[in-house]
This record gives sequence, C-alpha cells and structure tokens, in this order.
Amino acid sequence: MSNTIETKDPIKLNWINTIFLVLTPVLALIGSIWHGVTYGITWVELSIFFVWYFACGLSITVGYHRLFSHRSHQAILPLRILYALFGAGAFQNSILEWCSDHRRHHKETDKEGDPYNASRGFWWSHFFWILIDEDDGKVDYSNVRDLQKDWVIRLQHRFIFSIGFLVGMVAPALVGYAIGGIPTAIGGFVWGGLVRTVFVHHGTFLINSAAHVWGKQSYTINNSSKDSQWLAFFTFGEGYHNFHHAFQADYRNGIRWWHWDPSKWWIRAWSLVKFNSNLKRTPTASIETAKMRTSYSKIASKSEKQHSESTMSMFETRSNECISAMREALRFLDDKRSQLNKSSSNARQIIVKQIAHTKDKIMSINSEFQAILDDMMKPTVYPAV
Ligand SMILES: [Zn+2]
Ligand SMILES: [Zn+2]
Repeated sequence: MSNTIETKDPIKLNWINTIFLVLTPVLALIGSIWHGVTYGITWVELSIFFVWYFACGLSITVGYHRLFSHRSHQAILPLRILYALFGAGAFQNSILEWCSDHRRHHKETDKEGDPYNASRGFWWSHFFWILIDEDDGKVDYSNVRDLQKDWVIRLQHRFIFSIGFLVGMVAPALVGYAIGGIPTAIGGFVWGGLVRTVFVHHGTFLINSAAHVWGKQSYTINNSSKDSQWLAFFTFGEGYHNFHHAFQADYRNGIRWWHWDPSKWWIRAWSLVKFNSNLKRTPTASIETAKMRTSYSKIASKSEKQHSESTMSMFETRSNECISAMREALRFLDDKRSQLNKSSSNARQIIVKQIAHTKDKIMSINSEFQAILDDMMKPTVYPAV
C-alpha cells in the first residue's frame, strides 16, 4: 500500500499580471487625488479620459470580441489597425491570446476548459483567472489559426507590451502636454492612462463574472450567461450576454433598436460607408423560437413534478408544434417583407395582405403557446372515479 498523500498543486501566481492589476487601481486613486489637489481637474483630463475610454473599450468589444473572436463582420485595414493599437492600450493581452481564451470560453462555457469558468465563483471568473497560472502560462493558439493569417494581428502579438505602453500610457500624456503643458500631461497620464485602464478592465471582467450571475435568461438555459441592461450600460453593450451566448456570430448583442449597444451602433455606422461589411444577423425566426424553447424548458422544469409523464409529453408535442408553426410563419414574413420593395404595385397589394394575414397567424400562435404554458402551471385535475 502506498503511503503517499495526495497534495494539491501550490497556487502559482502570475506576478506580472498580479502586480499590474493590483497596482493600477492604487496608482489611479493616489494619482487622481494628488493631481486634482495639485493642479485641479479641467475639461482636458475629462476629454482625454472619455476619448481613451471609448477608443480602448470599443477596441475590445468591437475589435477583439465581435470582429476577431466571432467574425461577426469584416472590417477594412485602418479599423483593424485601430483596434490592434487601442486594444493593446486596454492591457488585456494580444488579440491572439484574448481570442483564444474567448473561443474556449464559448466552446466550454462553465466547464473545466473554460478559462473564466463562472461555476468556479464570481471572483475566479472576474479576475483571479488572470492572476493564477494554472497551465504554466502556456497558451494553445490552435483555435486562432485563422487570425494568425492577418499581419496586423501577428505584429500586434509580437510587440504587444510596447504598443500597449505607448498607446495606453504615453499617448494620453503627450496629448495632455500638447494642450496644456506639464499639468495636463500628468492629468492625461493619470486619467487617460491609469483611471481609464481600471474602468475598461473591470468593465470587461464584469462580463465574465456578473453577466454569468445576474440577469435574465431568455434565449438559452444551457449555460450560466445572463442578459443585463444595466451591465450593458457600462460595457459598450456587452451586457446582453445570454443572447450573445445563444447567437455568438451576431454583430449585435442588444437586438432591439433601443437596447444600449454602442458596439452594435459603431459596427453599423461604419458599414454605411462600407468600412465594415458582411454584418451577420440572426434571423428573427431563430431568435423567437429560441425564446419559446427557453420559456418552455423553464416552465417544464418547474412543473414536471405536478404532471404525469404522458401529460408532459403531450405538452411537449403541443409546444413543438407551436414552435414549428412560428418558425414557418416568421420565415414567410421575412420573405414577403424583402419581396415588398422589389414588387410591382399590383403584386404589392397581395403581399401586404399576406403580411397582415401572417401577423394575425403569429398572434394566434403566440396565444396558443401562452395557453400551453398556462396549462402547464396548473396542477392536473384527475377525473373522479
Ligand atoms: Zn460568457
Ligand atoms: Zn463572445
């Protein structure tokens, strides 16, 4: 019999990441207080803060995330260079490393292979995973081979620290110096460099932590991702994370026009002048049927104990019929809407009637589906023998 006692591997800290992530908030706090007391805060510091906040933030959400990780659209070279520069200035590693981690997050969500596995707790997924080297710092780039073909991405990876330092810390100080000399140079460094880094960092981190804990699950319950409007506000629209996990290739995270999603607006705006192309949108039929399936699964898990197996299977059949009918009706509606503008006036009248009829049909499918869910919530009444 072996006498060896199994010991847990000691925690290996990644010292560079740890020092950087601990030091930036401390320096940002001390620096902003000292600078404010010594020189006062002017519009220069605030402007530099917001420009760098948006440039670095959007480079992560639009560039690193929706463009490079998910290929949700295509962008011309100057935009890709912009994302590479300001993304480096966000101090979240190179595009290659970030996207490799992120693709694993989607593939293995909440499981062992997920680098920011939310099932290991809030703080692990927020930033402990960055501080602790579980794989000795080795990164497997096999899932980002497509990205390695882009010279912008290769070059950024090679010089990531120098680019980050220059764009993220030196440049805001230089802009400050050009506007108001030494006081605003220091202000630019403190506000555009340090304070902004902390805000962009923890905005991104909140998507990995808070967006897997708080919010609604309307599109999928197969993982812990949630939709949160308030989180979207601090993260350039990334808070609609449940939708994103269900439809990761979509260039939008907030799908309604009024959903706060500056990343979506940025991508759309540049597509109007052809700087962006091939914007991927999930068809309405897929979105609506995913919502129906999710509503059904949620109620089924709550009510399955109060019904017999055969009753549950009857509910399932009825709901599947509704979902299929809805898919068909929405696809038909989409088809007819796209035909509308290309048709002659006679044909248009017929199409308008077909559209109105399909809308009525969609409403009745919706009520039928709602009635099934209501029936599921009621306890089964067995007839008296
Ligand atoms: Zn996620
Ligand atoms: Zn993603």
